[in-house]
Amino acid sequence: MTKHILIVEDEIKIVRLLEDYFHASQFATSALYEGTQVAEWVREHEPALILLDLMLPGKDGLDVCREIRQFSNVPIIMITARVEEIDRILGLEIGADDYICKPFSPREVVARAKAIFRRLDVSASQLPEHSSGLLLDEEKYLARFNQTNLDLTPVEFRLLSVLKNMPGKVFSREQLMNALYTDHRIVTDRTIDSHIKNLRKKLHQAGCAEEMIHSLYGVGYKYDF
Ligand code: CA
Repeated sequence: MTKHILIVEDEIKIVRLLEDYFHASQFATSALYEGTQVAEWVREHEPALILLDLMLPGKDGLDVCREIRQFSNVPIIMITARVEEIDRILGLEIGADDYICKPFSPREVVARAKAIFRRLDVSASQLPEHSSGLLLDEEKYLARFNQTNLDLTPVEFRLLSVLKNMPGKVFSREQLMNALYTDHRIVTDRTIDSHIKNLRKKLHQAGCAEEMIHSLYGVGYKYDF
């Protein structure tokens, strides 16, 4: 099935360039040129992925992203020319899955989108029905605690999976950042902390009473249950 990408960007030349590259890779695209209509459009059309420019007329990309996260886990790649915003983009409060800095290579943007789709591989299949505890299906990107699905973002899923695959091992924030972000990025410790905070909240909401992710002051985190 053709995947539908929404491009939100006010620079027409960039929109056209991205469209050309996505179409060449057999994706369908739609474009919006300002921020105020985006959430409503997403609700109605349910795109498979959103490329969201940070600086937009009407409403900026961070607000748009927050707004979409109220009702959808659709993958969002933020596009920014402001390096100093990257930390906020990747942090808990915004909920974006990835970012790309301007100027970018359109080929790289398509590659990132494909990578997100490979990881998500949204499939109808589910985890085993009657198992309990925390279950992660790495191929399908599904996480469940007992019978409750955890609605994790791709970054949260990878983070939980890295920790859970080596129970008891203490990871420094730097190790976690390296595990999460393979390309060169400017991410700070706080990014990891906010993802951990979010993970704990989601586990707790799913009925996990005990702490699974433990903080070691001045060192990092470990998974133990
Ligand atoms: Ca812009």
